[in-house]
Amino acid sequence: MELATQREGRQVSLRPVSMVDGVYDNIYERLMSLEIAPGARIAIDVLARDLDISQTPVREALSRLEREGLVRKAHLIGYSAAPQLTRKQFDDLYEFRLLLEPEGAKLAARNMTSEAMAAIEAIAADMENSGTPVDRNSRYSRFARADAQFHDAILRVGGNNVMRQALSGQHVHLHLFRLMFHARVTAEALEEHERLLVALRNRDPDAAAQAMRDHIQRSHDRLLAAFE
Ligand SMILES: [Zn+2]
Repeated sequence: MELATQREGRQVSLRPVSMVDGVYDNIYERLMSLEIAPGARIAIDVLARDLDISQTPVREALSRLEREGLVRKAHLIGYSAAPQLTRKQFDDLYEFRLLLEPEGAKLAARNMTSEAMAAIEAIAADMENSGTPVDRNSRYSRFARADAQFHDAILRVGGNNVMRQALSGQHVHLHLFRLMFHARVTAEALEEHERLLVALRNRDPDAAAQAMRDHIQRSHDRLLAAFE
């Protein structure tokens, strides 16, 4: 039997991870694509019946999603999908990212090694290929996850753990990608990432900071449409 740590490495599970992972992915995709609407109740028994499994892995998957802020648990009521970001929360998140991430990209360009660059490029390549076999929903939700990994990897190379945890603790990408389901979001983000990759590859701190700033600002402008 395969024993493994959960995907965030915070907790060791003694249950075969594949089952919980599968349930997690299933609910995650339905949340990201808004098939489960923001605020909607999520009944454990119904999900378990739909997926033809026991309630235990459903509970585990939901508590993982709760830690990411995608679902909420209320006493006596149970789980529901997190409400959509408000305009204020959206603006606050981008303000926070603009403070943090250009500086993080600058540090990353200074500290870049060829191994770290290869790791970041592997994530970027993954995002470009997130195309083919699967349906639109899982493609989009995988893209959101990979984008989170991409931005996290840059802060990891930057080397300031307080900065890195500040960003990852917000689960920014999950909430932002859930706002809107749009092909432009992915295509344009890839172009902006490409410019960022060039700056990081050249170990040019100022260009990296500027490319990150542009990426975040343009991402803000793209997703703003969700509030119109
Ligand atoms: Zn990005």
